Amino acid sequence: MPSGRWPSLERAVRGDVVLGGDALDRLGRDGSHVRGAPRAAVRPLDEDDVVDLVRWARRHRVALVPRGAGTSLDGESVPIRGGVVVDLSGWKEVGPIDAEARTVRVGPGVVNLDLQSALRPSGLFFPPNPGSWATCTIGGNVGTNASGPRSYGYGAARRWVRAVEAVLGTGERVRWGSLAEKRSVGPELLHVFVGSEGTLGIATAITLRLAPIPAIRNGWAVRLPAKVRLGRIASTLARTGGTGLSAIEYLDPVCAEGLPFGRTSRGRSGSALLLLEIEASSRAEARQHRLRVRTVLRAAGVPSEPTEFDDANRMWSVRGEAGRVLDDRYGPRVREDVAVPPARVDELVTQLRRIATDERVRLFLFGHLGEGSLHPNYEVDPGSPQAERIRSAVWRASLGLGGTISGEHGIGRLKRRFLDRELGAPAMRLLWAIRDACDPDGILNPGKLYADRGPTSGRSFPSPSGRAARPIRRGLPTSVVRRRGVRSKSPKRRAVSP
Ligand SMILES: Cc1cc2nc3c(=O)[nH]c(=O)nc-3n(C[C@H](O)[C@H](O)[C@H](O)COP(=O)(O)OP(=O)(O)OC[C@H]3O[C@@H](n4cnc5c(N)ncnc54)[C@H](O)[C@@H]3O)c2cc1C
Repeated sequence: MPSGRWPSLERAVRGDVVLGGDALDRLGRDGSHVRGAPRAAVRPLDEDDVVDLVRWARRHRVALVPRGAGTSLDGESVPIRGGVVVDLSGWKEVGPIDAEARTVRVGPGVVNLDLQSALRPSGLFFPPNPGSWATCTIGGNVGTNASGPRSYGYGAARRWVRAVEAVLGTGERVRWGSLAEKRSVGPELLHVFVGSEGTLGIATAITLRLAPIPAIRNGWAVRLPAKVRLGRIASTLARTGGTGLSAIEYLDPVCAEGLPFGRTSRGRSGSALLLLEIEASSRAEARQHRLRVRTVLRAAGVPSEPTEFDDANRMWSVRGEAGRVLDDRYGPRVREDVAVPPARVDELVTQLRRIATDERVRLFLFGHLGEGSLHPNYEVDPGSPQAERIRSAVWRASLGLGGTISGEHGIGRLKRRFLDRELGAPAMRLLWAIRDACDPDGILNPGKLYADRGPTSGRSFPSPSGRAARPIRRGLPTSVVRRRGVRSKSPKRRAVSP
């Protein structure tokens, strides 16, 4: 194989093939510390090109890693076994918005915030708004079943995906889901695809459900007293009807301090913050909602006056800075993502603090309090053995409280060794059976989501097919970029070695 070329791949697809340089290096990373060395990246032109790419990868047993913006936080989009990154970030079509049906069909590479802007004139929006919404893509949101602050009121991405058009690891085209408002035709395969982290198929088009934009969206930032019970706030607010609440967020004092409204005139607050979004259809209703929320907060031991934002989006944009502030001040760290029943949040916080004390590291805490979903950040090298120990302790704490090892970011590379502890052996066997059916050669995003077959966490998960996945080729990065149009493609393709 001559260095800097991959003739069989270059013959197989019509889109750009990137074979080296900074562009390829960037595609070997995501928002985590996990690193990969892809041998190439392909920017497919259309669905036919994706089918050709998958067929080629099957023939040559090469890993394909679908990718949107690469903002995932557990190595979900990192090509850990080399192979080819399938870069879909250029697929930005926003199809006609069907305002009557409240749906839109989009390309997987559309950035979440760009979609919101495109939808605004229609009076509709796509509710999941991850903290990364200025960069992350709808394909990635579907791949990880992403959430955001407003998922308290609206639910995660899965609820807002109507249909997915995808190319499976078999090379077959599928369209899962339906445009009908409801249906009852057996288990919904669409729901299996959402959150599958690129391991079943490559989404080429996604039809989304949309919600009407509320007339009024107020943001509230409220200082919390030191000893307040977070679970009590969350469950009392959840129990109270007629509040219009769509988001209940928490920031500990260190995270809050990095934000303009988290500081006092002396620059330090020392207080944790509650961020709320309160929706209403009229001014009168907004007043009622605000009054109810104030009453509940006082009863839950939160007397302070809120800082108000007429437009909650302004508050979320500022809140999105919390992660960057921690990045600037404290650098790489363990960024965890667990969720427990909201009433048990205080028990979780106690255990998270104990882990920090035992490990003698600093802990920063923020998250989606209304859903019991927290992001404990520990100031420790995320690739160190200590980080592994801390992660395991955090997951154990969450599972012990009836929670989950991932509230929203996904499993990726980092959490897969614990997946069986949450799901159990029968569920793991089923997941492998689905994976085998959709991707018989194990070419799609290998090494992610699924714990390896065989003994894991002390248990074993034989493959239902009894067949071990064939090894995936690992490639070294080279340094050539072939641009589309440089060389024409023969209409008849032959299977040749890479
Ligand atoms: C600052 C910051 C804040 C964040 N805040 C949140 C938050 O509030 N809520 C939240 O849920 N997450 C959050 N995240 C995590 C991340 O942004 C989300 O998981 C997001 O959905 C990933 O989108 P992406 O386009 O970057 O996807 P990528 O990282 O490129 O991919 C994510 C996964 O989806 C798969 N995938 C991508 N495109 C396709 C496709 N077309 N077909 C099949 N599979 C595909 C990939 O293979 C991968 O497994 C945050 C991340 C950062 C860095």
